[in-house]
Amino acid sequence: MMNQERYPELRAALRDLFKRFPDAYFRKVDEARGYPEEFVDALTLAGWLAVMIPQEYGGAGLGLAEASVVMEEVNRCGGNAGACHGQMYNMGTLLRHGSPEQKRRYLPQIASGALRLQSMGVTEPTTGTDTTKIKTTATKQGDRYVVNGQKVWISRIQHSDLMILLARTTPLKDVKRKSEGMSIFIVDLHQAIGKGLTVKPIRNMVNHETNELFFDNLEIPEENLIGHEGQGFKYILDGLNAERTLIAAECIGDARWFVERSARYARERRVFDRPIGQNQGVQFPIAEAHIETEAADLMRWRACELFDAHQPCGAEANMAKYLAAKASWEAANTAIQTHGGFGFACEYDVERKFRETRLYQVAPISTNLILSYVAEHVLGLPRSF
Ligand SMILES: Cc1cc2nc3c(=O)[nH]c(=O)nc-3n(C[C@H](O)[C@H](O)[C@H](O)COP(=O)(O)OP(=O)(O)OC[C@H]3O[C@@H](n4cnc5c(N)ncnc54)[C@H](O)[C@@H]3O)c2cc1C
Repeated sequence: MMNQERYPELRAALRDLFKRFPDAYFRKVDEARGYPEEFVDALTLAGWLAVMIPQEYGGAGLGLAEASVVMEEVNRCGGNAGACHGQMYNMGTLLRHGSPEQKRRYLPQIASGALRLQSMGVTEPTTGTDTTKIKTTATKQGDRYVVNGQKVWISRIQHSDLMILLARTTPLKDVKRKSEGMSIFIVDLHQAIGKGLTVKPIRNMVNHETNELFFDNLEIPEENLIGHEGQGFKYILDGLNAERTLIAAECIGDARWFVERSARYARERRVFDRPIGQNQGVQFPIAEAHIETEAADLMRWRACELFDAHQPCGAEANMAKYLAAKASWEAANTAIQTHGGFGFACEYDVERKFRETRLYQVAPISTNLILSYVAEHVLGLPRSF
């Protein structure tokens, strides 16, 4: 342990569970482009993916701080929380905005692992980050909504039972503010696939199950609308601070993994009759990566504290995600450099983690959009879009 860690008991319990999943496990899953079923099952059965679900619905009723430790430790042990992190924040949407009936119906089953709510369908191919322009529509017809349109990069569909879907219920031209007129629905994927929903996997740089979705008159029962019609965008935004803070924690987990592996290799690898880590040219980038990781971690805890105290935390959550994604990417670069040629060998796992951590500069929100948020909402600079 390089520093005083918060939640030592929680971490000890997680590390104990993760002993069953050594590097070779994650390497094999990556090579096979598979899904870490056993790992996700073990996390679910131990209750770790339900830490934020209130006790009355079968969860642990803990805060974002504890949830962030779970996600951090997954990445720190050599895994990647991208296989299952959707559940941590998607269930928050249901919890905050779902009806009592929806909560009773879904949350206990999500907590027990009987149902997975791993997917959220927001991004579209032609509108990208400009979410209010989405073209997928949900039109009310009798007691159901009929969905038409397309989504892209929708993750974990093949390993989830449910998806939260954002669609336009009132055309953009008929709303006062562009953020109005969108709604969110809970989609039962087993009922939808093949009956109006077509799923096309996207092969990508990492072993991350993500897909294009095509909606052709998909029918969703009206009781699957979450909250009020037209308010869906606001509900999605509500969940983003939790999502960004959890992603920051995952990046911290990655960054610590890279720093530890780099330091270990630099101590052990001998060239020119001495450990490579004796050279300051090798030491300094590792020290720098450590410093930046620890600094990013402080912002992550600040975001957690504010979120758990129900205080506004948009700036802190965004800044934590920005700093942590940058720290993990720089630590990843250092790890490749420190390992020399072996950084490229799959059996060292550095190249896999390097690919995996790169994603977080782009998804779930790109670095530019965070800078724009801070410029506009924190510094009061003029709106650029
Ligand atoms: C592996 C993976 C998994 C994903 N999983 C999901 C998921 O489960 N659900 C989901 O809904 N989405 C998901 N996404 C989508 C992800 O959220 C988007 O890719 C991301 O938000 C960026 O949107 P885009 O790809 O359309 O980029 P664009 O919006 O096309 O932007 C491209 C680039 O231009 C920059 N840019 C655009 N506009 C501006 C501006 N005004 N100022 C400055 N820079 C700008 C962006 O920062 C970015 O770097 C996933 C993406 C990936 C790669």
